[in-house]
Formats: sequence, C-alpha cells, structure tokens
Amino acid sequence: MRKTLIATTVTAALALAACSDNSAPQQTTAQQPAAEVTTAAEVVSSNPLMVKSTLQYEAPNFTEIKDEHFLPAFEEGMKQHMTEVLAIAGNPEPATFDNTLVALEKSGELLTRVSRIFYNLAGSSSNPQRREIQSEMAPKMAAHSDNINLNPQLFARIKSLYNQRNDLGLDAESVRLIEVYYDRFVRAGAQLTEEQKTAIRALNEEHSKLTNQFSQNLLAETKKIAVIVDTKEELDGLSESQITAAANAAKEAGHEGKYLLSITNTTRQPVLSQLSNRELRKRVWEASANRNQSGETDNRPIVARLAQLRAERAKLLGYDNWASYGLESQMAKTPQAVFDMLGSMVPAVIANTNKEAAAIQEMIKQKGGDFELQPWDWEYYGEFVRQAKYDLDENEVKQYFEFDRVLKDGVFYTFNRLYGIRFEPRPDLPTYHPDVKAYELFDADGSSLAIFYADYFAREGKRGGAWMSSFVGQSKLLGQKPVVVNVMNIPKAPEGEPTLVSYDNVTTMFHELGHGLHGMFSDVNYPTLAGTSVSRDFVEFPSTFEEDWAAHPEVIANYAKHYKTGEPIPAELLDKVMKSRSFNQGFDTLEYMSAALLDMEWHSLSADEPLQDVNEFEAAALKKHGVNLAAVPPRYKSAFFSHSMGGGYSAGYYAYMWSEILAADAFAYVQQQGGLKLENGQNYRKNILSVGNSRLPMESYKAFRGQEPTTDALLIRRGLKTKVD
Ligand SMILES: [Zn+2]
Repeated sequence: MRKTLIATTVTAALALAACSDNSAPQQTTAQQPAAEVTTAAEVVSSNPLMVKSTLQYEAPNFTEIKDEHFLPAFEEGMKQHMTEVLAIAGNPEPATFDNTLVALEKSGELLTRVSRIFYNLAGSSSNPQRREIQSEMAPKMAAHSDNINLNPQLFARIKSLYNQRNDLGLDAESVRLIEVYYDRFVRAGAQLTEEQKTAIRALNEEHSKLTNQFSQNLLAETKKIAVIVDTKEELDGLSESQITAAANAAKEAGHEGKYLLSITNTTRQPVLSQLSNRELRKRVWEASANRNQSGETDNRPIVARLAQLRAERAKLLGYDNWASYGLESQMAKTPQAVFDMLGSMVPAVIANTNKEAAAIQEMIKQKGGDFELQPWDWEYYGEFVRQAKYDLDENEVKQYFEFDRVLKDGVFYTFNRLYGIRFEPRPDLPTYHPDVKAYELFDADGSSLAIFYADYFAREGKRGGAWMSSFVGQSKLLGQKPVVVNVMNIPKAPEGEPTLVSYDNVTTMFHELGHGLHGMFSDVNYPTLAGTSVSRDFVEFPSTFEEDWAAHPEVIANYAKHYKTGEPIPAELLDKVMKSRSFNQGFDTLEYMSAALLDMEWHSLSADEPLQDVNEFEAAALKKHGVNLAAVPPRYKSAFFSHSMGGGYSAGYYAYMWSEILAADAFAYVQQQGGLKLENGQNYRKNILSVGNSRLPMESYKAFRGQEPTTDALLIRRGLKTKVD
C-alpha cells in the first residue's frame, strides 16, 4: 500500500496485512465438520475447487468457480487437513524431518487452494454472499488453527526435531523450517505446564474481552464526539459539497438545520487544514485528542490493565516484558534495537519540526494572528506555507502520467533494466473481472517464472487501498510456481479516454509490483518460508525499495510524457513534485515516532509494575525520549491507540518505519553502485527477493548490503537531512 508511512499509518496498518499475502494461514487445520449430505465423490465431480486447476501454474479457472463452491470446499479442505495432521501427530514411528515437517508442508492442499482463491476474491470483488461466507468461516478457521497449534503430540515431534536439528544432516533452509515451526508452537504456549496453560487461557480470555471493550468504546465515543456546528459561517474554508455532507450528517443524527463534523481515527483531523475559524478548530482538535478519557467510555483503565496483562502473559512465557516477547520473532529482535533506531532519528526530526513550526508561526503573523502556534493551528497555516512554497497543480502533473505508459514504460521498463525480466500479456488466461489483465513473467534467460494478474482500477465491491496477494505460492517441494496479483484503486477514465494517474499512484504501482516480485522471484523449497512470508518489520521493505525508481532520471525520461503531445515532463514541474513530497515531514515523522515510542514504552513494563496512571505515563514516556513538543502530539494517544491497544500491533507500531529504513538504505546503496543496472538487480534479487523467510532477515540484508542499515538514507529520503557525500 502507500508507502510514505507516516501520512498513511492507518491505511498502512491495513496495508501491511493487505500489502503482503492476504490469504489465510496455511497450516491451519480444523474442527470436525458437520456430516455432509452429499458424498465426497459427488462434491468433487461438480466442484472445480476440489481439484488442482489444469491451467498453467494452477492458475484458478475463474470461469468455472461459483460462490456456492466455496463452503463445501472449505469444509472438505478442513476435514482433509485435520485427518492429515492427526496422522502426522499420531505416527508410531519416531519423528523424522520427512515424516513430520515435510508431511506438514504437504498437508492441507485443498484448504490452502480454496482459502487463497476465496480471500483474494472477497477482497477484490466482494458481494453479500461472499461476506456471509467470510463471517461463517472466521471462527471455524481460528478453531482449526488452534486445534493444530495446541496439539501436544505434534509439538513433541517438532520439539524432538528441534533439539537435534543441527545433527540431522539437513540443509540450512530445512533447519530454518524446523526453527520457524518450533517458535510458532512455543509462542502459542505449547511448552507450558497444564497449570500455566490454564493461567494463559484466563489471561487470553480477559485480554480478548478488554481489547474488544477498548474497540467498542472507541467506536461509540468517536461517533458521540462528532462536533455539531450551528451556523454555516463557522464552516468557512470547507467546500460546498463538504458543507452539504455536514448538513446531511447532522440531519441523520437528529440535528436538523445544523452541521456535523465527524472525527477520524488519528489525533490530527483532516478538516483542520481547511477551517478558518480558530475556535471551531480548537473544538474539533480537543474532541479528538481528549477522546475516551472520561465517562462511561473511558479507555484509560483498560489501557493500564492491558499493559499489565500483556506483561503477565510475557512472564508466563519466560520473557521480561511483552515487547521482548513480540520482537523476538521480528527482524528488530529486541526492544532496545527499536529504541536505538528511533532514538538515532530524534535530533534531526526535532530540528526539522522546529523549523516547520517557525515557518508556520511566521505565517500566522503574516495573516494578522497574534497567538502562539497550537496543535489545532498547524495544518491550517501549514497549508498556506505549502501553497507559498510549491503551488502545485495536481491536474497538470497527472497529464504526464498516462496509465499504460506508466505501467509499460515505467514499471515494467525499470524491472527489465534491473532484473532482465519481461511481462508478456496472456489474454487467453481467464480472470475474475474484465478489468483484470493476466501476464506471464519471463526471466532474462527466457525461462518462465510466474503468472501475474494486474487489477489496477477502482470498482464496486473492491476494498479500498492497494495490496499484493498470491493465488498460488511458490514451492519447489510442491512443484508450484507463483500466481500473484496486484490490486489497486486507480479511478478509471471513461471508455475511450486515457486514464491519468496521480504521482502518488505511480509510486504505488512500483510499490505493489515490488511486493509482487518478492512473491514471483521466490525460490525456496518450503511453502511456509516462501515469498512475502517474512516478519512484519521486513515485509514492506522490498516494496518500498522499488518506489523511488519512479523518480530515477533514466526511468522518468522513459515514461513521464504528456499524454497528448508526448513531451517530457518539464524539469521545473518535476522538481516541484519531488520537493512537495518532503513538505511537513518533520511533523509527520515526529507524530508517528511519538506514537511508536509510546507503544514500545507501554509494552516494556514488567509484570511486577503497578497499574499505571495513563496520562502521567504518556507524558513521562514522551519526555524521556525528547519528543514532547506541545504543538505535535502523538499520532494516537493511548486511549484511542487501536494498533497498540486494541489490535494486533502491540509493540509493533514501529514496523512501518523499520521497513522504510531498510528500503531507503538499500536504495541509496544501489545508487552508489551505479543505479539502474543488472548487477544491482541480481544482487538484490539473490539476497533479498528470492530467499523469502528461509534465513534470518538481517543475514539476508547484510549479504546484500555488506553491513547493517543506518537511518541516514531515510532521513534524506524524507528531506529531514541533507546529503553529506
Ligand atoms: Zn506494501
């Protein structure tokens, strides 16, 4: 998804899942399905999902698949998978790599196939029937997964292999597979005594109750605190259509004749850049920032208890705190590594934020204001500063980015220059919508690598944002080559007119095909380790790395041409586009970093610490790291920090920036090595793109780069530091 992490953290949150492979986990298996009326043989004969597709690389035959095929295929898939897993767990022979891990890797073929096809279509082409299937399958798939991960016989076999993993004469990838399986089971609690398991289950139950309550409170309160405005005059700065929408929203909420401004999820609110009425800006900002910190929907007691409860859970599993537990399976490895990474950026970020604040304060003065800059003023006066500095007309820019040219002469061209690959149209392969185009990917030596579906245009039933996913994963063990899709939401021009693309979407096309190549260049044995199955703080690296090619001089010269005249984009206009991208990056980076630090601090508490006072804890944490600027509050405060408290990003909010650091460092390194050329592409492909999760990510990075990354290139990329060399 979108790459400038800061500006799009929420989208990015969804994107991370979305941006990587979004199919259901592979080695989940299930409960006993209800007895089927039809026999297995009858089902198989009439349901195309039940058998491998005979199309190239098992590409799904979309013309034959109907929605009514999914549920029976899921049921049968879970049944088959469970039978296989129980046979592996109950095998009377001692555990061997083949009879346990290879067998597990080969199990669940049908369930994997139907999951991948279904969850892809549910995201890109949803309908009521598919949504119903999704709701029905969610708890069943979760239970299926638990039944496998908590199977003690199965864990005993994995553990015995783990203990002798270096004496089995296995290759490095196979040893890595054992480690990945072992960690997964241990982290789920497989090692605990019965008593500890009971304690964990109790903590889990309380945890799920509290996170659910947190989200419910947040949802209720965010609705309740919408700002009601009495007069149209107060809305000065909004467009007519925004005002009409506000009037309609007020009417719907029972405030006919007034205007309603709803509150979005972050501390900062988009309307603050438009509203000229300072009192109203303040009301909007305070409604947002003080959210869930009083009354019945006060989330602070929940935050305090969640932090404590996670620390207790970590202690049971043998860790000092929740962050240590969470980071062990990530590239960062330890909380200290994250604190060091963020800490090394603080001085440059603060210096830039102060500069931005000074420019805004000056603008306030110019506009006749006599007050000190407050958080609710930042965006409004910042917009004047931006206009004064850049004066960029998006519509003028778009005329140089015509869709077909961007794809062929920009994206495909770059990847041909870097990796020697070619994308050939395959109109003979069925797709799931007429807008979706199929390609076959060929390597430099002419050999065929993968099938790629390009699904770029917005349409009804498609979830927002952009992502990459796979219909078929790569595995030498299973003899499978990748079948990959990129999905975006570019507004399509009417029939017969060229589609013009924003520069933002141009970089997203590079980004998503970056994920795509991570999937399509995968060259590993085991499906569990293939392609984008890497840690959360690594997965956005290969995609973000490709973004900056969009602006590389040789690439730009090849594709950024006026859609009518074919004239190249004027240097001055291009310069403005690039410069405007670093506008307000001090603020954007700081508000993100503050939230990431807050998330890490909450989850660095040990189980022995008392319940914390949330506001005091928050203030102390920001002060400790030197990021407590009054005008730039954290992107989320604890009471409405869903990623950290309600969702699955506890001790993980830093991950977006971690990936971007790798991407920026790698891209800068490649430029030093001569930029757009095959040798660079081959090094990157061999050490990063083709290895999936078959070795530790930092090992891969050092193999490619010769050293660990630093944050310098990221700061330069964001315009927060000037080039030294
Ligand atoms: Zn992405």
